[in-house]
Amino acid sequence: MNKNNYNDAQDDLHSFEAVIGLEVHSQLLTKTKMFCSCQNIFGKEPNSMVCPVCLGLPGALPVINLEGVRLAVKAALALNIGINKKSLFARKNYFYPDLPKGYQISQYLDPVSSNGYLAIETDGAEKRIRINRLHIEEDAGKLIHIGNESYVDLNRAGTPLIEIVSEPDISSPKEAVSYLKELRDILVYLDISDGNMEEGSFRCDANISVRRKGAQKLGTRAEIKNVNSFKFVEKAIDYEIDRQIDVILSGGNVIQETRLYDSKENVTRPMRGKEEAHDYRYFEEPDLPPLILDAEFISDIKKSITELPHAKRKRYIKEYSLTEKDSEVLTQDKNIAHYFEDIIRLNNGRVEIKKIANWVINDLLFALKAKEGNIPKQEDFFNLILEVENSNINKNAGKIVLTEMLLTGKKPNDIIKEKNLAQVSDEKGIEDTIKQVFKENQKELEDLIGGKDKLFGFFVGEVMKKTRGKANPQKVNEILKKHIENYKKGGN
Ligand code: ADP
Ligand code: MG
Ligand code: ZN
Repeated sequence: MNKNNYNDAQDDLHSFEAVIGLEVHSQLLTKTKMFCSCQNIFGKEPNSMVCPVCLGLPGALPVINLEGVRLAVKAALALNIGINKKSLFARKNYFYPDLPKGYQISQYLDPVSSNGYLAIETDGAEKRIRINRLHIEEDAGKLIHIGNESYVDLNRAGTPLIEIVSEPDISSPKEAVSYLKELRDILVYLDISDGNMEEGSFRCDANISVRRKGAQKLGTRAEIKNVNSFKFVEKAIDYEIDRQIDVILSGGNVIQETRLYDSKENVTRPMRGKEEAHDYRYFEEPDLPPLILDAEFISDIKKSITELPHAKRKRYIKEYSLTEKDSEVLTQDKNIAHYFEDIIRLNNGRVEIKKIANWVINDLLFALKAKEGNIPKQEDFFNLILEVENSNINKNAGKIVLTEMLLTGKKPNDIIKEKNLAQVSDEKGIEDTIKQVFKENQKELEDLIGGKDKLFGFFVGEVMKKTRGKANPQKVNEILKKHIENYKKGGN
């Protein structure tokens, strides 16, 4: 069914509001797995990155990976979520072939972090989405289905994850996407996660319900599992909201269930039976001690948190007077933002920052996108900017030099020399040219000295022509003026 079937009930349709809460799982960029020393890398030969601990062999004992804890705490601090100095690991029991132990080590009653918020932009305003908790857990393995056969790859079993659970504060598919993007930006910026949705290292379950506007009580929710792109999250939620309203308007009840999104048909469908009736029989993990964090551990992590993209954007606008658009382009990629800031440090006030931003956005990023090649060293790129800003070469030559820098990695000054692009700025060279031009244009020179000032431009033009556009126009002006004054005073 579709909302168009309810032409008579348009008012009804609009009298509903959506309520959305997201559960995000994000893999952590640790070297090793969460409870064993197997390497944490993607894409290796199936079942080659395993050991007795992550295979769940009897008698093998888990050990907490401190780096995993550090990254989880870093994420919590960056997301304004409270840190719990004491937390516990728990066993979440269920049976599935990708889970060799028969339980997943997770955190339940006492997570490492709880109560916070993430600020998102929605219609130009800021909205805080409350976060209920952030906890540490391990990933399961992977099932691969080929024809009628299923295979198990346990390389991913034991990979460190954080799960971040929002309160049901999100009110539209668009807001859901803003929340996810902001969250992912932060985790990627701080090297906590690679944020790769296609490879499944950043994934999201969306809980959705609808209710009459103004109602206090939450409606019954459906949970959509593991949607693997921002676009599909938006579409899946959008579809699910309409579906639930349809159900209610046709006199039915939404039932609490887990659904899967089919991106080909753009629909959500109930997941097959048994997988829903969960009773995980959580209990405290007897093989691991409580996780106790001391104040110094937390404050060291706090110090390692650099400025986040959102704050950077705001600062660029305020401190550097950049436009919102430019600030956004420059902060999208952490490496570019750092590159830009390195250049500003090198610059130390010499060139207007707006100009540097233009160089990075319109010249460097543009050239990198259009052509193959590597980003130049900060010093080299800044020297190129100086060459142009100081009129040693003109802007056009600057572009030629940049292309060459990307392709060869050579220094700008070497390229300028090689290609003979320098503007002629040395006074002797310009003077010689001027004398030559005077000699060839005796009549015009007399007229100019005689007071026909308009001819000044003609002489500038002739000098530029003779140097094939490479003379520094400012220098030409200066020197030409000096000579003509001399002539007027009767010198030569
Ligand atoms: P569970 O552990 O069974 O998944 P939780 O109570 O932890 O359930 O909630 C999981 C997610 O569902 C949270 O993000 C929460 O905000 C969201 N949620 C809970 N109730 C609703 C509801 N009625 N409508 C939409 N989202 C909801
Ligand atoms: Mg859930
Ligand atoms: Zn292992």
